[in-house]
Amino acid sequence: MNGTGLLVIISGPSGAGKTTIAHEVERRVGATFSVSMTTRAQTAKDVDGQDYVFVSDERFRAEIERGGLLEWAEVFGRCYGTPREPVERAVADGRTMLLEIDVQGAVQVKEKMPDALTIFILPPDEATLLQRLRDRKREGEDQIQKRFAEARREIALARESGAYDVFIVNDDLERAIGEAEGRVRERMSASG
Ligand code: 5GP
Repeated sequence: MNGTGLLVIISGPSGAGKTTIAHEVERRVGATFSVSMTTRAQTAKDVDGQDYVFVSDERFRAEIERGGLLEWAEVFGRCYGTPREPVERAVADGRTMLLEIDVQGAVQVKEKMPDALTIFILPPDEATLLQRLRDRKREGEDQIQKRFAEARREIALARESGAYDVFIVNDDLERAIGEAEGRVRERMSASG
């Protein structure tokens, strides 16, 4: 095809709704979702090869050394990275590729590929974020407070980094999805 596929990066703190938004945008625009490699433990909800490719520390190191990762970062003490080949193939084929990665990763990709569309999902306000983290009922209060502090740090880092083209406030899920979809479609038609 035309060799000008679009790369879309979606980031945001946990509890902001980025995963829901990313998957809905993926479905609506027919994008390909990038499957990251990670050294974190697989949970009961995770499908290996679909949500992540779960690997050992050694395998992850080897992947970095052979240049197989477009970007990688340590998040919550575990390594996460984007396999390079699928992204390059998608761009070469003129497809839209969607990456759900953290701020450190977005900064790296934006440096290498300035045409990437970078979107950061924000919670409406701090009280709502805290409530959403609690509503997930996944963790104890200590862990919730830790995630809340991390979320605040990540939002500050995203703003300072200058790596994001768009900040979308998830005050209403349907509206936020629509806004993200609109931005992606705008760029898809611009890149032909
Ligand atoms: P989780 O373990 O909850 O699925 O993801 C934790 C964090 O890692 C999220 O902020 C997610 O966006 C980020 N993440 C997932 N995959 C990648 C990746 O390939 N690269 C980077 N830099 N971050 C990632």
